[in-house]
Parts: sequence; structure tokens; C-alpha cells
Amino acid sequence: MQSCDIAIIGGGMVGAAAAALLAQQGREVVLVEAELPAPFAAEQPFDLRVSAISAASVALLEQAGGWAHTRAMRACPYRALETWEWEGFTTRFHADELGLPQLGYIVENRLVQLGLLAALEQHPHVRTLTPARLARLEQEPQGVTLTLTDGTQLSARWVLACDGAESVTRQLAGIGVSRFEYRQHCMLINIDTDAAQQDITWQQFTPSGPRAFLPLSGQHGSLVWYDSPARIRALMALEPAALEREIRAAFPSRLGGFRVTGRGSFPLVRRHANRYHAGRVVLLGDAAHTINPLAGQGVNLGFRDVACWCELLQKAGEKWHDAALAGRYERRRRPDNQLMQSGMDLFYASFSNRLGPLPVLRNLGLGLADRAGPLKALALRYALGL
Ligand SMILES: Cc1cc2nc3c(=O)[nH]c(=O)nc-3n(C[C@H](O)[C@H](O)[C@H](O)COP(=O)(O)OP(=O)(O)OC[C@H]3O[C@@H](n4cnc5c(N)ncnc54)[C@H](O)[C@@H]3O)c2cc1C
Repeated sequence: MQSCDIAIIGGGMVGAAAAALLAQQGREVVLVEAELPAPFAAEQPFDLRVSAISAASVALLEQAGGWAHTRAMRACPYRALETWEWEGFTTRFHADELGLPQLGYIVENRLVQLGLLAALEQHPHVRTLTPARLARLEQEPQGVTLTLTDGTQLSARWVLACDGAESVTRQLAGIGVSRFEYRQHCMLINIDTDAAQQDITWQQFTPSGPRAFLPLSGQHGSLVWYDSPARIRALMALEPAALEREIRAAFPSRLGGFRVTGRGSFPLVRRHANRYHAGRVVLLGDAAHTINPLAGQGVNLGFRDVACWCELLQKAGEKWHDAALAGRYERRRRPDNQLMQSGMDLFYASFSNRLGPLPVLRNLGLGLADRAGPLKALALRYALGL
């Protein structure tokens, strides 16, 4: 039986960040990861799974020691963000409005994870067990006993479930989840662009769903196409030349010339765990909540969970294993995650609706939002976690 202070199940972006920050506090951490990501090579094509990482998340990754490694691989800073439905009614945010060098970075999920895992290698307080999966979990008053699929047994004072949306740890802890399937899928398309390196991300709302562009390093980008499941299935089946024709017809002309280099699709599902903890098992990141990716907030909320849990443990000092901390964590994080989920749903519902005066009202709203001065800066600060 191995023992540790904190066992973390899942070494994705959220679990690896939590491991690094808790090890910095001197906690003995065991990280259990099912499958390590492939190492980075500069000639690799861009992954499809990319995230807009906010300024606050970059600060957390820097503190965890992972960001310098990730930045040395590849990450694309973006300074502006534009969203509109009708031309002329655009809301535009710029880093200059907050006096920031950039609003954040577009970066491949795998490279954030690899950067953090590289940082963990230097921590004497972290052991990584991989490939390994959780098979059984037994709660005791002072801790949890875990059994992995290879028979390894582990005892820990806290278990952090960071094993993603379909978290096995959450299920083994007996925590249910409320789930809502949007009637839309989302297609991710990697492209090479004729335009030079860009530092703006934009999103246009259309009657069948948003179309977004995220810049990647060099002359590359990621397109996000939200549409009905049937339409996305049909697009996925097209030859590259036919898909490019469809993209040209569906995306705004500012996209310019491009070639498709990769594609994949995902169903859109909102999930929220009924509780964020059971006994000494605590949920973080996608294990606790998933959100419509419309505003690129998913992992940024996960990093806020990490920051909150680490702060609670640090402030607790010698009482870091006090069972009451889990309740305090939930009281702080649930309202924030709920607010962002509901905000995205309101936005999504409003832009999906073509009835009566709504299209006019929402476009006026976007136009007005652009001139809202301090309110606009406040909204931007909230989205960036500042
Ligand atoms: C289309 C799309 C676009 C998105 N865009 C953005 C964006 O722009 N910005 C943003 O902030 N977020 C975005 N997100 C959300 C973001 O991708 C997720 O929030 C993020 O990946 C969650 O990280 P995580 O570490 O919690 O979970 P995951 O990334 O799912 O990592 C879980 C880890 O646990 C491991 N694991 C799983 N089960 C076990 C087990 N039983 N035992 C051991 N290990 C296990 C897995 O191998 C994995 O490494 C997007 C999501 C989608 C679907």
C-alpha cells in the first residue's frame, strides 16, 4: 500500500496544474494518468483540440511552472476579440482597453498538459503513475483507499477527481450529474491561411449556429463551425475540396484564402455535478462541469477550481486535511461555474432565436455593448478571470 497526502486522478490540464501547485505547498502528491500525451515535435501538424487560455489562466500556469515549457513549444497570443451577427453591429474587445499585452493565448490542449508534466518532473513531491486507471475507491473517516486497475493500492487524505467529463472517480464516489445535450454539434477544422500570422479571434452568429476563427502560430488557424448534428455529419463526410467550398460559403469573407489540414467533430453537452465532493473526494475541472464552448471558458473555469482548492489548503495550514474544506470549496466554486454556464446558455438561446424583434434587439445589444465603456471593460475582466 502506497500512501500520499493527495491523490489526483487524471493528469490532463486541470489535474497536472493541481499536482504542481499542491507539490509546491509541500504536499506529497500521486498523479494517476491513464495515458500520457505524445511528446512534442516542431514539425507535427497542429492538434484539433485547442483552447483559448485567458490571462488569469496563463498566470496560474506560470505559477505552476508549466507555461515556459508550453510557450517554448508553440502558443499563439491574441490581442483582440470580435463578435457580431449583422455587419456593422460588432462588439470588439482589445487588450489595450485593459492595458494588457494580450488577452490570452490559443494553444493546443496537449501542449499545456506537456508543459505541466515537464514541470512535475522537477518536483520531488510528485509521483506519476502511468499508464494507470482507477478501479475502486473506499471512503474512510480520515482518507480514501484507492485500487488501480493493475492492483496497485494507494491511501490518500484527499482524492481530486480531474478525470474529465465522463469521470469514473465521480461515479465511484456516487456523485450524479445533470446533463443537457444542445441540439448542435461543433466541427473543428484546422487550416493553413494565406493571411500572415493573426492576433485576433472572431465569431459570427448565423441562424444555424456560430462560426469562429482562432489564430494559431504562423499561417495557421482553427475554425469552429456549430450546426445541427446532421449538417456536421454531412460536412465531416466531404472531400477536402468540397469542404473548402462549403466553408467559403458559410464563413465571412475576412477569412481569406485557406486550405483544410484537419477536422473533427464533437457533440455539445452541458454537465454539472450534483455535488462537488463526497467525503474526501473533490471534483475539479470537467469532472465537475462542462460548458458550451461558445466563449472558450471550459478549462479556464477548471483552472479557477484549481486556484480555489490550492488557496483553501494553503490557508488552512496544519488543518489542510480538515473535511470541512470540501464544503467551503463547493460554496465558492459552484456559483461562479453556474453563472458562466447560465450566461453562455442565455447567449446561445438568444442567438438561436429568430422570432419577432429578437434579432434586431440582440444586434442593437451587440452594437451598444461595444460603446458600453466601463461595463464592457468589466465584462472583459470577468471573462479573462481578472
Ligand atoms: C470543441 C471544444 C472546444 C473547447 N474550447 C475551449 C476553449 O477555447 N477554452 C477553454 O477554456 N476550454 C475549451 N474547451 C473545454 C476544455 O477542452 C476542457 O474544459 C478541458 O479539456 C478540461 O480539462 P480537464 O483536465 O478537466 O479534463 P480532460 O482534458 O478531459 O483530462 C482528463 C484526463 O484524465 C485522464 N483520465 C480519464 N479517465 C481516467 C481514469 N479513470 N484514470 C486515470 N486517468 C484518467 C485522461 O487521460 C486525461 O488526461 C473546449 C471543449 C470542446 C469540446
